[in-house]
This record gives sequence, structure tokens and C-alpha cells, in this order.
Amino acid sequence: MIVYWLRRDFRLLDNLALTRAVEFAKNNSNQKLTCLYILDEGLLRENNWNIGSNRREYLSQLLVDISTKLPNFKIIIGKPVQVFESIAKNCSKQNLNLQVFANDDIEPFAIERDNNIDKILTKHNFKLSLHNDQLSVLRDIRAGSGNIYSVFTPYKNAILKKFLECEVVDKVDLSKIELFDSSKLYQGLELIEPENILNKIKAKNILQIKNTLGNTLGNTLTLDIDETLAEVLVLEKNSDIFGIQQWYKNEQEALEYFDYFNKNKIIDYKVKRDDLEIDTKISFEHHDNEFLSSGGTSKMSVALKWGLVSARTLKRRILQVHGLKPDDLIIKKEFETGIGCYISELAWREFYRYILLHFPMVMNTEFQPKFRGTINWINGDEGLVRFKAWIQGRTGYALVDAAMIQLARTGWMHNRSRMLVASILTKNLGVDWRWGQEYFRIALLDLDEASNNGGWQWGASVGADPKPIRIFNSYLQSDKYDTLGLYRKKWLPENYDYFAEPIIEHKLAREQAIIRYKSASGGVRDF
Ligand code: FAD
Repeated sequence: MIVYWLRRDFRLLDNLALTRAVEFAKNNSNQKLTCLYILDEGLLRENNWNIGSNRREYLSQLLVDISTKLPNFKIIIGKPVQVFESIAKNCSKQNLNLQVFANDDIEPFAIERDNNIDKILTKHNFKLSLHNDQLSVLRDIRAGSGNIYSVFTPYKNAILKKFLECEVVDKVDLSKIELFDSSKLYQGLELIEPENILNKIKAKNILQIKNTLGNTLGNTLTLDIDETLAEVLVLEKNSDIFGIQQWYKNEQEALEYFDYFNKNKIIDYKVKRDDLEIDTKISFEHHDNEFLSSGGTSKMSVALKWGLVSARTLKRRILQVHGLKPDDLIIKKEFETGIGCYISELAWREFYRYILLHFPMVMNTEFQPKFRGTINWINGDEGLVRFKAWIQGRTGYALVDAAMIQLARTGWMHNRSRMLVASILTKNLGVDWRWGQEYFRIALLDLDEASNNGGWQWGASVGADPKPIRIFNSYLQSDKYDTLGLYRKKWLPENYDYFAEPIIEHKLAREQAIIRYKSASGGVRDF
């Protein structure tokens, strides 16, 4: 019996685990293939904050779609470890051989889960085969010193050629897969139809954060995110929340949209990727999705997060469409173009995955040792008031507030805005970066633990690839990237008071941040 275990790879193109599972089934005529998704029962409960409401809805939509494509596809409710314990027992009882194929993961919780499942299957003489997916190339590459790379540019230089040359697996051929009754395999387990998932989910988005006043672990503070957002979103000018409707719905739509970006926009990516204003302008040239076709970036993060596309596929399509060979992009001149810049962003994504894989403690701890436990964050009740204002888009820094409302309403935020709001929360408001990371874990449709963590550690100036401490100035950022104020106008409510004092005036906040970071040796710079 062969099981393809779908986790975060909702695609048929460049899906190595699925391709290998299908090949194995076809080459061994007595082996039957079944495809499986395990809906962690934690997601169904009240007060569960593991997955934001946008993502629950998107996940259910993707499951409905993929269920029509994968052969013998079943969704089981349960804890993955217990589900595989049951499946292994069922197979043993019926003298069936079992081999499970899945794409690998680099997140610490996923690695622990996979190790536990591997032990269970091995105990029954069965096998879990994990296939390379989350890091495109070179999981264990090291610098000349033998150490793991901790600075981006040398890492990028070291992996670039391999990344540009790496293989992309063709779309899997699912024809001639024999359908069969897999019910015996799943005996004793709870199955659910994809259409019924949303009705079953009762979870609320509750954030539990550690009160770390004075850097000593204190009690836990609780914030109901649904309630916090409801307070502001009902006041909005046109109160519908865009949610997931405007995103591509499956692999095919994501690829179509990428092809549009690749042909029409990637060339200008380097000059337009930071422009918040064009993010509000619609370009209908070849694409009719208003939201996706606005802006200078690709909006591929949602597709990459859910595995509707792989980074390898994007790389291949870029080289093909622009008639480039890997070596063309390795020379400096080509790397200065929009295409080179885009490839470089994909390399950032690889870098953060590599860091999380090798330093899983970064999920809760600063990468740079000098910052571990040395910053006096303003947490506790005062921190909670500031944090709530930041979430609600009520800090009084107009660009920050616009960005936070964009996130609340769409589940997505522009990268320039993410950098700004992370700096303002940690530097100006003095709130622990882990709180921001937690809120983003709920709110982002493209939540990717590695990039999110990397982004937050970067925003708080405590992460890998150390730079001088950067303090973003919301006013300077507005002048530069939202010159006419179109982004602010788009997201802020009509009655927004542009002249109100921010909760902490920037100059004072900056001085306080410098004191807070004074243990840092790299100096402080304004952005
Ligand atoms: P494009 O500019 O079109 O870039 C193409 C792809 O390159 C992106 O889809 C993404 O996969 C990758 N990429 C681009 N910039 C970065 C970056 N700085 N770091 C890592 N990868 C990058 N990205 C996520 O995918 N998920 C997250 O949870 C996430 N959280 C973030 C939190 C903070 C505080 C910050 C500062 C950044 C975060 N990012 C995250 C990175 C970045 O903001 C998004 O990838 C980007 O905004 C997505 O939009 P896009 O697809 O249009 O990007």
C-alpha cells in the first residue's frame, strides 16, 4: 500500500513525493496508491490560534479543489502521529506492506512530527520516504570555516548556481492509477468530506503571549484577535473584508498569474518592488484580477506558502521566458536587473529556511547571542495597549496604520510595509518582536514560519545577516514610497485623523529605542 501524504504541496507540477509515489505504484503492480491529508483536530477547536481564519478558509478551498485531482483522496481528522499509528496497525492486521511518501519540511514542529511518525512506521517495518521540497538545494552547505552561513550574500553566492540549475519535476501523470476501496486502511479513523470542513471548524483566534517585563518570564497575557479586529473593521468605509476571494484558487490559476507577472512585470521589479503607491493601481493589460495585478511585486507568497507552485518552477519559467541560461544570471550585470533582483528574493526565502532548519531555536530566541534576554521590552499591560493599537491600525503613524488595516482586510501586506510595521512595533513602541511574530502567524495568508521569523528578527535587528540597528521613520518612508498618499488613502478609514499625535512621538520613541538597544555594538541608523 502506498500513501502519498499531502501536507503543504497542493500541486501536480514539480511535486517530487507524489511523482515518486505514483512511479512506485506503477512499477509495482501489486501496490495500490491512496492520497491522504490529515486535518489536525486542534484546528477544529474553540480557542485555537494555530491557524488564522483566512487560512482555514483557504485551506478548505484548496482541499475541495485537490480532492478532484488526486486519486483515492481522503481527509482524516486526527493527530498525525495517532493517525499513522492506526494506519500502520490496520496494514499489519491485513498483511499489507505500507510505504508513505511525503515532501519534507524544515519547520521544527514538522521535523519533530515526521521523526515520530518515522519511528512508528519503522516499528511496524514500514517506511516513510521524505523528498526534497522546502529547501530547493543544499540543505547542509557550509562556509569554508565549516560553520553554517549566517550572512545572506555569501550564502546566496554559494547556492546560486545550484539553485539556477536545479531540476524541476514534470507534472505527475495520474492516468492509469487503479482506483480501489481504501476503507480498510482507514478503519477506526474519522474521515471528512472537504466541503464539510468549514462547518466543523469552531476555532477562535486567541493570542497568548508571555508577559516578559524586565526580561523575567511572567504570566501570560491573552488577546482575542477576532474581537480586536472586529472593533475596527466595522468602522471601515466599505466594510467588506476582502479575505481570500481575490487570491488564485488553485495551482493552475497561480501559474497563470505568475506567467502574467513574468512576461509583463518582472523586468521592472527592481525599481517598482518598493513602491507602495503602485500597489493601489490596477494594471489590466493581460490580467483581470484587480488585486493581483496591482503593484510591482509578484504576489506569489501565498502560492509558495501552500505549495501551489515551487520556487524551482518559478525559476525555470523565468529562465525560459527570458531566454536566459543559469550562467547569464551569475554574472553581476544580469543580477542588477529586475530578473536578478527577483531571483535574489527567492534566495532570501531559501536563506531563512536554511537558518530555521539549522537554528530551530530562532522561533523564540534572538539569533544574535548579544540580544538574548538583554533588551527591556515594554511588555505587560502597557505593552498590550500599544500592541492592540498597532494591530488595529491606531498608532497615529498613518502609513503604519494603513499597512495594518491592509493586513486585517486582505491577509496580506506589502514587504515594504512589513519591514516598517515590524520596526515601529519593536523600536518605536518597544514591544517584543515575538508578539508581532505571533500576530502575523494568525493574520497572514502567506504565513511561512521561516520567512516570518526571519522578517521579524530582521525588523527587530536581532537576526542573522546582522546590520546596524535600523530605526524606520514612518514619515520618511511615506515621502519615499507613498509620495502622493495613495496607499494611505486606500486603506485608512475616511474619518482617519492624519494630524493626530502618534501614541509615542517619533523623536522620543527613537531616543528610547537607542537606550533600549544600547547594549548593541553596531550603532544605530535611521531609515
Ligand atoms: P515578491 O516581492 O514578488 O517576492 C517573490 C517571492 O520572494 C515572495 O513571494 C517570497 O517567497 C520571496 N521573498 C520576497 N521577499 C522576501 C523576504 N524579505 N524574505 C523572504 N522571502 C522573500 N514572506 C512570506 O512568504 N511569509 C511570511 O510569513 C512572511 N512574513 C514576513 C514578516 C516580516 C516582518 C517581514 C519583514 C517579511 C515577511 N515576509 C514573509 C517576506 C516578504 O514580505 C513577503 O514574502 C512578500 O511581501 C510577499 O509578497 P510577494 O509574493 O509579492 O513578493
